[in-house]
Amino acid sequence: MVAVGGHIGDMDLAAGPVLAQNVLAGGRSILLALTPGERGHPRLSVPEYAAQKLSEGRAFADAIGAEFYCWEDQSDGFLVHDEALAQRLALTLRRWRPDVLIAHWHHSMHPDHENASRLAVRARLLSGLPGWHTDGEDPEHQRHGIPHLLFAENWEDEEGFRPTTHVPVSAEAHERWRGAIEGEAFARGETYGFRYVDYYTAQQVMRGCKAYAEFAVAFATEWPYFTEPARFVTT
Ligand SMILES: [Zn+2]
Repeated sequence: MVAVGGHIGDMDLAAGPVLAQNVLAGGRSILLALTPGERGHPRLSVPEYAAQKLSEGRAFADAIGAEFYCWEDQSDGFLVHDEALAQRLALTLRRWRPDVLIAHWHHSMHPDHENASRLAVRARLLSGLPGWHTDGEDPEHQRHGIPHLLFAENWEDEEGFRPTTHVPVSAEAHERWRGAIEGEAFARGETYGFRYVDYYTAQQVMRGCKAYAEFAVAFATEWPYFTEPARFVTT
């Protein structure tokens, strides 16, 4: 499983329990942040917070048994959706060859999240595209179709989000997530005061009720073009 977030911490919150569960089941989980999220602290300088975010992101991934990567050359608030970045991400996905790609929902209060969502969708397409780039030549970049694309449930990306899949999470995976996420200052409410840990714990309990499990994480499974009512059907 690969989870691609706009900033360090986004996917830790929204997908972390499922990544932890995947590791407990013997799978490989990878977190990739497309920027550090270094402008998210009201008191620390940008370089100070960038260093802190990288260290918190690594510690979170270690604690749930995942791998951690960040595009440190990209900047919080300035992530764009362009072909060069989509191709860079696609080649990375071809190396990692995930079965499941987790992305931001495409409507968000953060432009970085919206662009990260679009980059993930485009990169998934390119990853599976025959004859693109070094397909057939470089063994690291062989074409790889990613079977599953899941959009994560994130309170910052709520507009138009409709969960269509609930993934049950064991108490053990939830506890691993909870212990790990408390290591991130923003999640503890130390930056702008939002109670992330409480919110996402409550969300996992609520989604667990719907999934008849102790905890669960919900995802939207399709790009909206395929889930909207068929407007052109006449009866
Ligand atoms: Zn974010």
